[in-house]
Amino acid sequence: MPAGALKLSSAQSLAQEVARRSGQNLLACYQCRRCAAGCPVGKESGVTPDRLIRMLLLGDEQGALDNLLVWKCLACYTCGTRCPNDIQTARITEVLKQISKAQHREPLLPRVAAFHGAFVKAAGQAGRFNELVGMGMYEAQVAAGELKRTGLKGVIAELKGQAKLGQAMMKKKRMHVKYETVKNKGEIKALYRKAGR
Ligand code: SF4
Ligand code: SF4
Repeated sequence: MPAGALKLSSAQSLAQEVARRSGQNLLACYQCRRCAAGCPVGKESGVTPDRLIRMLLLGDEQGALDNLLVWKCLACYTCGTRCPNDIQTARITEVLKQISKAQHREPLLPRVAAFHGAFVKAAGQAGRFNELVGMGMYEAQVAAGELKRTGLKGVIAELKGQAKLGQAMMKKKRMHVKYETVKNKGEIKALYRKAGR
């Protein structure tokens, strides 16, 4: 993302920026809360999709950027499927994650932020998310955080725990080691460039 895009001028509110980048018409929301009824993480996040949109429209930038729904959203698209106005909140939470990271805000869920970063980077390299590569990137970031927080002991405990989980997943064929790429990686790179990544 170009550095200039991170600073929002008063004339360019966060709501306008989110609407532009997510392609969602926030003003179409009439707070019927159908999305809220179906969101699997709304209750534990304390924020439902309708409320997130309301925060943006009311100019509560801090609230819209620093809330658990942004980090817990599963991108399940249940809210968008139910919305009579076809508002896809998953695209809104994705944009808010990107803006939050670009502004160097402390993520409310650092592991989710690390996974998000690893996923985007790994998928950009091959056009597909290769699990070993992506998980390696994720673990490197989490381990670096652990090193700062708890020292070497924490890193070892983290790697041991993840190795155990990885083994269990492989046993159940839930983790794949094959490295796959799309045919035209240049096209993916061009898309990333267009998105400012
Ligand atoms: S379902 Fe759509 S219109 Fe209704 S509150 Fe949710 S986002 Fe707004
Ligand atoms: S896409 Fe995100 S905000 Fe929408 S219902 Fe799923 S978890 Fe909730």
